[in-house]
Amino acid sequence: MRIIFFGPPGSGKGTQAKLLANFIKIAHLSTGDILREKLKDEDNVSSELKKEMSSGNLVSDDLLNKIITNKLNSKSCYNGFILDGYPRTLSQSNFLFSFLEFNNLNIDFIFDFNIDFNSVEKRILNRSIQEKRTDDNLNVIKNRINKYIKETLPVSIELSKKFKNIFTQIDASREISEIQKELIKIIKKAEF
Ligand code: AMP
Repeated sequence: MRIIFFGPPGSGKGTQAKLLANFIKIAHLSTGDILREKLKDEDNVSSELKKEMSSGNLVSDDLLNKIITNKLNSKSCYNGFILDGYPRTLSQSNFLFSFLEFNNLNIDFIFDFNIDFNSVEKRILNRSIQEKRTDDNLNVIKNRINKYIKETLPVSIELSKKFKNIFTQIDASREISEIQKELIKIIKKAEF
């Protein structure tokens, strides 16, 4: 099973993607997590990454496309995957769908997490205290939300039109368990 999660930073999509990937036993590909791992390398790439990520900017499409190609070609993704945080730009989306077409793969579900931006700001500020993330102060949060509106919303809008039958809007303001139940219900309903 192959799934894409969309949603602004702080919408809870990462938490839900992790839970759902464990439940279905498929890979959870969080590009944010993968990039944060790369930051530990302390080489030229990581110092460039640190600059972009800590200011809330997006990292280059080229790097993300390479990371995702490697992951999708690896054994861990043979049974399927949840993409969490990718594609984030139209160029990444075009790249991904060409890759999938070339490899004769299809996407089964796209979930789009909806939540108002004030709630998102509050959630991220709380998370910054708990996880000590350097990209979670108020200015950076605002930049990340702006990037989401400018770069990522056009992608989810395009895919919602192109893949109407597999695209579902999720009310992300609810409790974690409630959202998880809804996602599992949607998946099970389509399976049987
Ligand atoms: P996240 O944990 O998904 O909010 O990602 C944290 C940061 O990693 C983002 O603010 C970006 O700087 C970078 N990032 C993650 N995924 C992508 C992507 N698909 N394209 C560009 N930058 C990304």
